[in-house]
Amino acid sequence: MSGSILDGKKINFEIQQELRPRIEELRAKGRAPGLAVVLVGDDPASQIYVRTKIKTCLELGIRSLDFRLSADIGTDELLALVAGLNDDPEVDGILVQSPLPPQVDAGRILLAIDPGKDADGFHPCNVGKLVANRPAPRACTPAGIIEMLKRYRIPISGQRAVIVGRSDIVGKPMALMLLHENATVTVCHSRTRDLAAECRRADMLVAATGKPGLITADHIKPGAVVIDVGMNRVTDAARARRLIGHDARRWAAFEKNGSTLVGDVEPRPMQDLAASYTPVPGGVGPLTIAMLMSNTVQLAAQHLR
Ligand code: NDP
Repeated sequence: MSGSILDGKKINFEIQQELRPRIEELRAKGRAPGLAVVLVGDDPASQIYVRTKIKTCLELGIRSLDFRLSADIGTDELLALVAGLNDDPEVDGILVQSPLPPQVDAGRILLAIDPGKDADGFHPCNVGKLVANRPAPRACTPAGIIEMLKRYRIPISGQRAVIVGRSDIVGKPMALMLLHENATVTVCHSRTRDLAAECRRADMLVAATGKPGLITADHIKPGAVVIDVGMNRVTDAARARRLIGHDARRWAAFEKNGSTLVGDVEPRPMQDLAASYTPVPGGVGPLTIAMLMSNTVQLAAQHLR
């Protein structure tokens, strides 16, 4: 038996289609929503993320302001840029792509972003509102996962949800959002004793660790819903073979390109054991983009009221 795929690309498309008339309305009111995207340095993964975000803005008619800054920029210079964007009435959302180089005080940059323009939902003010379950921009990846579960009519209330990972951008907000949907939530991390046993209790398992293939058949209760947030580029052939060797098409692509993108969950047991699951790629990634667009439109609607 093979579980059904939760198709992030399809949900992304649906959300974008719903945003289009709202964007048109805002344009008719005065101007297109504006998203400022700040990229520091030349990290290849960040460049890809930023390119995708800007491309999606263009497709939707959201105005994107693209700032590429050199890797040796200092905190003060970046703070000055953020202050300018906070004051710019045509900017509705500000996104500073992480990771920032070590000499930049990332915490100060985050605090400097106007919470009313925080397209990523990472500002402590907005995190506080999430804790209190009050309206505010929400962290895009977990918000996208909730949106997808609802659109697939997967029940959350009363379910036992286990999240592996406790980062500020995925694990913690995911836990809060599932809690607000009345799941019974357990958060696991690198110090968790017997991770497999914790995971096997999950009706809904969310893996967000950045460790390729950490979650195996041992961790998955048959019939569980499995959400794989991980996006890991693997170049080691032995590891790639273990993870994607069963898939002739993907293995051939690995042999040609020398790398492949995998999640935190071993694909084969996920397909065999889960009732439904998000593939990598094509699962959670597109949802994150959709929710970034949604947050930007929502912020613009507030600014243009
Ligand atoms: P972080 O590195 O910030 O956090 C990883 C978390 O996983 C930590 O809490 C860590 O525990 C935990 N962890 C690490 N190893 C283990 C282990 N062996 N057992 C149990 N827990 C472990 O990562 P992020 O949350 O930023 O990202 C996680 C993954 O999700 C990455 O692959 C990233 O690329 C991907 N991602 C994907 C997005 C998408 O749109 N699809 C968006 C954002 C992230 P501890 O706290 O104890 O160190």
